Formats: sequence, C-alpha cells, structure tokens
Amino acid sequence: MGAPKPWPTRWPEPDYYPFDDDDYFEEPDYEIEDDPQEESYPLPEERIQSVTWGVTHPCNLRCVHCYDVVDYRRQDLNTVDALDVIQRLAWVGVEFVVFSGGEPLLRKDLFDLMSACQSAGMKFGMRSNATLVTQETASILRQLGLAVAGVSLDGATAETHDAVRGPGSFQKTMQGIAFLRAADIPVNIEVVLSRRNVHQSLACVELVEQLGVQEINFSALTPQGRGAWLREDYLDYPAWREVTASLYQASQTSKVSVSPACALVGACVACIEPNITCDGWVTPCYLSKRRLFHLLETPVEEFIPRLRRARLGNLDVCGRPKWTAVKAAHVPANR
Ligand code: SF4
Repeated sequence: MGAPKPWPTRWPEPDYYPFDDDDYFEEPDYEIEDDPQEESYPLPEERIQSVTWGVTHPCNLRCVHCYDVVDYRRQDLNTVDALDVIQRLAWVGVEFVVFSGGEPLLRKDLFDLMSACQSAGMKFGMRSNATLVTQETASILRQLGLAVAGVSLDGATAETHDAVRGPGSFQKTMQGIAFLRAADIPVNIEVVLSRRNVHQSLACVELVEQLGVQEINFSALTPQGRGAWLREDYLDYPAWREVTASLYQASQTSKVSVSPACALVGACVACIEPNITCDGWVTPCYLSKRRLFHLLETPVEEFIPRLRRARLGNLDVCGRPKWTAVKAAHVPANR
C-alpha cells in the first residue's frame, strides 16, 4: 500500500505460467519445481522496514470477506499501551507503520498515535475503507504527515462493490477518496479479487485513472476471517492466469501504477512485513492472525530473532494457492 517493500512484486511475464490448464484439472495438489521460498526468500535482517498494525477491531462496514475476524475475544490496546507499542517499534528500527483495522478512523486516539509515530521518526500510512473521511479529517491527516492512504475498492461499480461492502459504501468511498486527494494525500487503491469482481479488474483500473490516485494494487481472496466461508469465490488457476495476464498488459499502459500484492503473485513476505493485532500480538502478516508473540510482553531485543525463527514455518500462511508463488523471477537477483 505504498509502504517500503523488501522487494517489489512483479506480474508474471507473458510467456511464463507455472501450469497448463490441463494439469490444473488433472492434479490439483501441485509442487512448484525450484520453489524459490527455501533459497531466495531472506529472513528479516537487522530491522523491519514496515509493519501493519490493526489499531482497532471495530469497523463501520461488514464486508463479506473481512480477514480481521478471529475465534477468540480481544480488546483494543489502551492509549498508554499503544504509545508503548510505537516506542518499541521505533527501538527495533521500523521505518513505516501502516495503521489498519477494523477501520482505523474509529479509534479515538488515532491522531495521537500518528503524531507519536511522527515524533519517533517513523513514517506512517493508513489502510481504510475511506467512508468516514471528511474534508476536516483529510486536512488533519495531511497536517499529521500521512504518507499514503490505502483505500479498499471491491468493484468498479456501486453494484459490485456494495455487494461485498454494503449498500451505499461505494459512493461514500468515492467521496472519501476525493477528500483525501483534495488534501493532496497520496492514495493507493487496494482491490481483493474474487469471482464476484474479477470481471471488473480492468474497469477498476480505468476508474481509478480518473481519481488522481498513484497506484492500484490487486490482491486475491484467501481463506482468512470471513473469507474462509467463501470457497466458491476463490480464483482458480484459469481465472488467476487470465486476470494476471490482462493486468500485466494494463500495467504497461496505464497512467497509474498497476501492481500485484503477494497474495496474488510472487514472494511471500510473512514475518518480513509483520502485523500487530489490535490487542498487541505479532502475526506473520496482516492476512494471518496466527499469534507469534505479544509485543508488550516480549523484550524488544527478541522481536527480530523471533520473527526470524518463525519465518519459514509461516510462509503462505494466508492460504494463497500454490500457483500464486510464481518463481524466483519475482525476487530481484540481488536477493
Ligand atoms: S502469508 Fe500470504 S498475505 Fe501473508 S505475506 Fe505471505 S503471501 Fe503475503
């Protein structure tokens, strides 16, 4: 979503796809030859470039595929503990914090936390549905130094988007994006592709070209949270192949950056771009709620060593299909 990346993820080259369609139907349980994950995927090194932090669990929407759903009771950290989290992240050398949720704008002390990030020398972004963004909110976010707003979009039309996110949400999200752009805040659009909206992937690119955003990033529905109950909506291999090919073409010509997320293509960044839950647990990435250790109950010196130990045991923990881990070509040669 605009946070610094340990490596860029790239679309599959037009002449490379891991399987034939026939193979897909004959033998669904694939192993990729020369799996890049053992050799080419580095462990976290001295510091973590970016973390996602679901600062609050509540949300004003009820998206059918929400990943932020767990099977245990949890409570948001209070302000004192949340400020402690920020100090610990700064100690570890984190460069960029992505405030996420739930809906982060529902957290009453969000601006205080952003200000604390700024004071601690860390840049920050926000992942939001943007339906609560007003002109005043956008102005404050701008003054606080918000580096980028990642805004969720699940279709190019109100009908498709609202079927996932609820009636009226498309119009409110468009309004929120307009306020953010009017405040000169960079906006990245984030689309979760599924069978419900994959037919509108190119239309989404065309739509956002009109909105003045800098990037549109495509992910894929994975079996996390409520997504676990949407098996019929997952992209299968032929659908994945078709959409990645067409988005590759769009990326060559569009005036906005058209990029893939790890759940759709390429290298897994589990434990390299870790996540913090609203109650302070560190998980391998924002799509996984597998609790590794509690940030406030663990010495800061242990933060990176524990992530290093957890990395290989948590690759692809989001449940993305094997075919999305497309070859080491998607990891730069210097890695
Ligand atoms: S587990 Fe999935 S979503 Fe998480 S970093 Fe890996 S590929 Fe990305």
